[in-house]
Amino acid sequence: MKKISITSDNYEFLEKVKQLSGEPITLCDQCGTCAGSCPMISEMDISPSEMLRLVQLGQEEVLDTKAMWLCASCFTCTVRCPRGLDLSKIAEALRQITLRKAVDQIDIKLISEEELSRLPQIALVSACRKFTG
Ligand code: SF4
Ligand code: SF4
Repeated sequence: MKKISITSDNYEFLEKVKQLSGEPITLCDQCGTCAGSCPMISEMDISPSEMLRLVQLGQEEVLDTKAMWLCASCFTCTVRCPRGLDLSKIAEALRQITLRKAVDQIDIKLISEEELSRLPQIALVSACRKFTG
């Protein structure tokens, strides 16, 4: 297992996510209820509870994972979390940190004409808002 060391940078990252999300992240006790409830878990590379643990430890590598982009803000975990944490807000904070670096996760120029005509306009607009910096 990778050794994790905690530095002031880790603390700053945790504080930034806490500030952007408004969530008391350190309250999570890793019960796993969110992971067991999430409808997107089969598509995620790390579970919602693992995402939270990495944030608690200030590990910026969480920004390289897919889970935060796949969170559908369905609030299933939010209503079930015994600590009252809203993971959708934490995922949004992580997306904001990435997007503020002006990193585009999708390139609309790469979407084919056929897909553009087939995909719902609202999904395209939403994806461009959510996934581009
Ligand atoms: S359900 Fe809440 S307390 Fe449990 S692991 Fe998920 S975020 Fe943490
Ligand atoms: S809000 Fe996001 S992390 Fe929580 S259950 Fe829904 S998709 Fe999963």
